[in-house]
This record gives sequence, structure tokens and C-alpha cells, in this order.
Amino acid sequence: MLRIEAVEAAYQRSIVALHGVSLEVRAGEIHALLGANGAGKSTMLKAVSNLLPAERGQVTAGRIVFDGRDTGRTHPADLVRLGLVQVLEGRHCFRALTVEENLLTGALGRSARRSETAEDLERVYAIFPKLKARRKALAGLSSGGEQQMTAIGRALMPRPRLLVLDEPSMGLAPLVVRDIFEQLRRLNREEGLSILVAEQNSTVALQYADRATVLDAGVAVLSGDARVLRERADIQSFYFSEA
Ligand code: ATP
Repeated sequence: MLRIEAVEAAYQRSIVALHGVSLEVRAGEIHALLGANGAGKSTMLKAVSNLLPAERGQVTAGRIVFDGRDTGRTHPADLVRLGLVQVLEGRHCFRALTVEENLLTGALGRSARRSETAEDLERVYAIFPKLKARRKALAGLSSGGEQQMTAIGRALMPRPRLLVLDEPSMGLAPLVVRDIFEQLRRLNREEGLSILVAEQNSTVALQYADRATVLDAGVAVLSGDARVLRERADIQSFYFSEA
């Protein structure tokens, strides 16, 4: 579904963040991208959605192919229409809008009928019932967990086939993190949504992922079955920083 082929990426031409990273997200899997702070996870995900130019970054070698299409040649908004949607790091919400208005912004740009949008909204509320209870509340006054759920819910509105998430656990209580990963796995198992998730919290990510890739200083140093990686305590303690 998504093939990352020997990608090199740099900021302002000289700050090299990725050194020839390759990985594949297979249709229907949850793939975790692990690594410590600064390993290059966010850069990798931004490259996937062709968002690096906004930060004076660029892919300098290799390519990323989503469903046969080179994402570096595709506008980020078109990637959303094609089914590749990203939840950026930091649970971005429109703070002055209500939770429901935030979700509805995810439906903009898709020429859906009103009934379809209402259906999509109900689907998000079925996944995150807390959002339904808080639908009229301002997102800016919601808890961190609710804001992350709102950001994920908004990303689900355009009906992605591949959902990319950058550190959804960041700054959240363990129970909330578990709740979010449970719902992501439910979407994956019940609806076949493919997921690429970057995480510093390797313990949780490896528990929910099917496969994982570990980045260290911009290099993919390990890749494989999440169950196998979970049992490699030696490798975990060496590469992973626990969040
Ligand atoms: P984090 O968990 O802190 O987000 P990360 O694994 O996602 O870490 P990146 O944010 O991709 O890592 O950073 C990889 C490298 O690229 C780091 O050395 C970082 O300083 C550098 N970098 C990231 N963004 C920029 C930018 N906008 N301009 C210049 N350098 C950057």
C-alpha cells in the first residue's frame, strides 16, 4: 500500500535527517515507526504526506509510493482525497471551534452529500463516544485525550485507507493512550484501515502493531514482526527511549 524506497531527506539542503530509509506498509496492517527523540520519525511521516517543503525540507533521494503514485509529486490535499490522511504531532485542533465543528472541517474538500457527512460523524462518535458527549464544547477547553481523539476523528472524516499518526501518545495518561490504541486497532481489524504510527512509546506501540521499523539517527536499523521485536528486550533497551 505504501512503499518507502531508500529515502534521504534534508532540511535547508544541509541538515540531513534521513539516510536512505526503506519500509513498506502492507494493506491492512498496523506498522509502528519507533525511535528516540530526533531519530527522524516526524521527518519520515512528513515526507510521506509531502509536507516537508512547508518546513524548508525535501526528499533528496529515493521515493515514496502510495497505491502506485509518487507522493512527492502529489499535493498533500490530493493525497487526502486519494485516501492518505495524517494526524500531525501535537493533537492540532481549532481551539475556538467546538469538537463537532472540528470534526466537520475534516469533511471539507470532499464532495460528500450531507447524509454521508452525518453518517461519518456518527461513525466517529461510535469510535470515540466521549466526543459525542462533548460535541458542543470548545475543543480548546477539552482534555488532552479529547483533543487527540478530536484530531484523529477529524482525520477519519475523509474516509482514509491509510491513516498516518505522529506520536498520538504524547503527553497523555497511560489509560487514555491505551483507549486510543484500542480504537485504532478496532478500526484496523473491523474496517481494514491500514495504519502507520510513529511512537517513542515503544511498549504500547509494539503491543498494538503487526510490524515495526526502528529508526536511529535517520537510519532504519531494525524492521520486522512486532511480536518478535517485543521479545528482544536487549534491543529495546538499546534503541528505545521510553515515553
Ligand atoms: P521527535 O520525537 O522529537 O519529533 P523525531 O524522531 O520525529 O523526533 P525529527 O523531528 O524527524 O525526529 O527530527 C530529525 C532531525 O531533523 C533532528 O536532528 C532535527 O533536529 C532535524 N529537524 C527536524 N525538523 C527540522 C526543521 N524544520 N528544520 C531543521 N531541522 C529539523
